[in-house]
Amino acid sequence: MSQSKLTDRFGRTVNYVRLSVTDRCDFRCVYCMAEEMTFLPRQQVLTLEEIARVAKTFVSLGTEKIRLTGGEPLVRKDILELVKEIGTYGLRDFAMTTNGSQLPTMADPLRKAGLKRLNISLDSLDPDKFASITRTGKLSRVLDGIDAAKDAGFEGIKLNTVVMKGGNDHEVPDLVEFARKKGVDITFIEEMPLGEISEHDRGQALCTSDEVRDIISQRHELVATTEDSGGPARYYRMPDSSIKVGFISPHSHNFCSTCNRVRVTVEGRLLLCLGNEHSVDLRRVLRGHPVTDDKLRQAIIDSMDLKPEKHHFSSEGDVQILRFMNMTGG
Ligand code: SAM
Repeated sequence: MSQSKLTDRFGRTVNYVRLSVTDRCDFRCVYCMAEEMTFLPRQQVLTLEEIARVAKTFVSLGTEKIRLTGGEPLVRKDILELVKEIGTYGLRDFAMTTNGSQLPTMADPLRKAGLKRLNISLDSLDPDKFASITRTGKLSRVLDGIDAAKDAGFEGIKLNTVVMKGGNDHEVPDLVEFARKKGVDITFIEEMPLGEISEHDRGQALCTSDEVRDIISQRHELVATTEDSGGPARYYRMPDSSIKVGFISPHSHNFCSTCNRVRVTVEGRLLLCLGNEHSVDLRRVLRGHPVTDDKLRQAIIDSMDLKPEKHHFSSEGDVQILRFMNMTGG
């Protein structure tokens, strides 16, 4: 694999790209979206061919890991065609983040199309709680999806849980037992202030990774590891289990100094940082130069000068980043 040609002003190498393939989703998770959402008109959204051009150009610049996300990537029509295409690019890691609702039928075709790893969001094991967090989701469907993903033989499956104090924090032990039983990794995420929500107060609901780790430590010894999945999580292991427990802590353990990532929204906006608005309009370049990728390549190289040193998240006061996570590409 080629060396990354993308290095920013702070000496960080970018070799991981998250591509959002849709802003639409069949769930309306309370921390992610408003109940009533307006989605983008079709002409503003990159075509699958445009997304593939972006992916291929990043790979030519040394990207080794691509994650498809959204919105819910599995509600995008013909997503399997995109997965098949990107699957031919020889990536070290090719992953998707999904809510799992379509996995009962899609897990096997996705694996066969070349996807290597799945992150599946799971915030509750209680059907009523799950329905209230996701507003429209059905837990049994997601649990079936997790089983289908296991049967399909992915190289890695990880559960993602956003922990909210007074919301689902009491379920942390059950979620860990569930992950241990299924033999899948689990990562606990601190809620980030993306988009204005009305369901709860983010400051009051913030459950830090240290607090989650304390809850788990009451039942299981957690041993810190230096293992790295190429993303922002820090991992722990338990002596009596094969699974990893990860923590993504944008508030309490800022992960900016080792940031190796950029995101491309479904409108083709290249976001240099999750917690800042610095961006480049790749759609304009793609559509202005439909035949060759030289300009696209140069725009991506030049964008590195815009990558900010760090984000400043705070759960107090006004929301700082107005775009919701479904627009950002989680
Ligand atoms: N629909 C897919 C899913 O549910 O996994 C992919 C997109 S979703 C935006 C990606 C991840 O971002 C999910 O694990 C979700 O829980 C997380 N997420 C969404 N909004 C968040 C927020 N405000 N803070 C932290 N994580 C968030």
